[in-house]
Amino acid sequence: MQIDDRPQEECGVIGIFAPNEDVARMAFFGLFALQHRGQEAAGLAVSDGRSMRLHKDTGLVAQVFTPEHLAPMRGDYAIGHTRYSTTGSSSARNAQPFMIETLYGPVAVAHNGNLVNSAELRQELLRRGVGLQASSDSEVITMMLAGAEGATWMERIRTSMAKWRGAFSLVILTLTGVFAVRDPWGFRPLSVGILPSGGHACASETGALRTIGCQAIREVQPGEIISLSNNALTVQQALAPQKPLARCTFEHIYFSRPDSVWDGRSVHQVRQRLGIELAHENGVAADVVVPVPDSSIPAAIGYAQAEAIPYNDGFIKNRYIGRTFIEPTDTLRRQGVALKFNVVTENVKGKRVVMIDDSIVRGNTTGPLVKLLREAGAREVHVRITCPPITHPCFMGVDMGTYDELIAHRLHVDEICELVGADSLRYLSLEGMMRAIGRSDGYCNACFTGKYPLEVNLGSVKTGFEKVIV
Ligand code: SF4
Repeated sequence: MQIDDRPQEECGVIGIFAPNEDVARMAFFGLFALQHRGQEAAGLAVSDGRSMRLHKDTGLVAQVFTPEHLAPMRGDYAIGHTRYSTTGSSSARNAQPFMIETLYGPVAVAHNGNLVNSAELRQELLRRGVGLQASSDSEVITMMLAGAEGATWMERIRTSMAKWRGAFSLVILTLTGVFAVRDPWGFRPLSVGILPSGGHACASETGALRTIGCQAIREVQPGEIISLSNNALTVQQALAPQKPLARCTFEHIYFSRPDSVWDGRSVHQVRQRLGIELAHENGVAADVVVPVPDSSIPAAIGYAQAEAIPYNDGFIKNRYIGRTFIEPTDTLRRQGVALKFNVVTENVKGKRVVMIDDSIVRGNTTGPLVKLLREAGAREVHVRITCPPITHPCFMGVDMGTYDELIAHRLHVDEICELVGADSLRYLSLEGMMRAIGRSDGYCNACFTGKYPLEVNLGSVKTGFEKVIV
């Protein structure tokens, strides 16, 4: 059982070009700001124009890097990655960046997303005699770049990109350059900004760019390649953006930091509006509104304001428990959410409580949270979810589980309500969610609707390549 019933974050990437700066340390702080997007492994690659250094391992950013690791990583160019295993297992060989030697010098790649045609691409590489070490589609991307046609890295990236179908926000490091690349659907976020020193940086989230002092931040547009190798960005629209685009709605609902901007919208404000819409659609008489921290806090504020019900803390979350430490032991795993959340008894005792949460995926934490509130003396517990029921898996880089694992695929809302032991359970409608985002299209909503923006293999699973190499 996962201790946190959330769609698992995909990954976080960062790229930096900053002449005469400590790029490794800068990238390290950027990765720290992206830690929420993946806690299984982290890595950095740095180039000084003559050679490339790489350090990566499993664990949190602060566990993977010590000052001793960072000290020799000198250069003007860096890329970094923090990983949750969307394809391939979480083993060390799948940690990123991937770095290989090519005819044109070393290249390193960090990838956020998932290719839906990686099985075919992988077979194609194997047929050509290319050896593969890892089991992730990101290695396939790296190997394809190494063997691509073209006189420059820009050309080789463009040639390869046309063959990739699915979600890819990439940062690519060569000896003398950093490239930011985004798929034409725009599934995953990627932005660039100007560093105070005059260099540039790109990262999965604007919040991470702000952490390292960036200004004039803008999105890498879907289908664009941006080169960060000199003081002026070189931008190429390599592929035409898909119509409509397919930005991941879950960046607004759960993944992104609330201080990030996604699709030109403040994530915090969108979440507040999700709460307001939820209140309009599914209000209930209650005494207090409590969020499941952290991602549901803005929505709970919005809900409470719209319903004129007091907002308060119901749970205190222990933010520093990594999954790595909990999952290996059965005893700790059985304690589940109780390890991660304590109830503020005084705020819920004898009260009718509205508990706001961002999603229910497998359904294994909502019940224990409701139970914690009841044990603390809550008179009624009404659960409100800031998105529609998740009925379909994601094939574009988010681990939602399989059809069988998704509780809303198996059960109706009233059955889920009974299972989690709530007095009532309501989800925000698709229309309400899009109203809160402020768009009627341009987003992927496949996990709610089953309408995928591109053809997917419904049978593919996260560890589908493992059998090939184990
Ligand atoms: S299926 Fe859901 S999680 Fe996956 S990209 Fe689409 S909106 Fe995001």
